[in-house]
Amino acid sequence: MAFELPNLPYAHDALEPHIDAKTMEIHHGKHHAGYTSKLNAAIEGSNFEGKSIEEILRNISSAGAGVRNNGGGYFNHCLFWEVMSPNGGGKPSGDIGMAIDRDFGSFEAFKEAFSNAAATQFGSGWAWLCVENGKLSVCSTPNQDNPLMDVVECNGTPILGIDVWEHAYYLNYQNRRPDYIDAFFNVINWSKVEENMKKA
Ligand code: MN
Repeated sequence: MAFELPNLPYAHDALEPHIDAKTMEIHHGKHHAGYTSKLNAAIEGSNFEGKSIEEILRNISSAGAGVRNNGGGYFNHCLFWEVMSPNGGGKPSGDIGMAIDRDFGSFEAFKEAFSNAAATQFGSGWAWLCVENGKLSVCSTPNQDNPLMDVVECNGTPILGIDVWEHAYYLNYQNRRPDYIDAFFNVINWSKVEENMKKA
């Protein structure tokens, strides 16, 4: 069974003005589509064929660069579309809000830690909110790596991620990555993040 590009759960322009339609169109239709087809080509005929994406990532140390880059790219973007929503943003309440207060002290402290991880990731990569043994933490990874991979320093299950590759923001924000990170907070789908936390 080959991996398939998931449909976006909303229209290309649904996240405007925070993330513009053209960026979403290229990001999903070209970049994510490319990772998906290249992942399928990279695992064809290998021991990874037929495995779940999570299983592939947890054993990525035994894979080549093609599987690592495109498997990460496939998984990361699947998560990314899901943790954004046109009805998102704001301060989370419920269990995710309480877990953030418990592990970061306050939502504001979490926002600062997550934004800082995203802003200071040098070059292309991602910043993550993870859960491990019931505790939340923030980290970042380069390229298309993610915390599920058995080769990265940050561990845990990612439940929220922000793409800080320039292709994620350059059309609208050019070099102003911090403005894009601020805008991302207006579209975070906290109910999905809470669901991810409960499944982790
Ligand atoms: Mn991307």
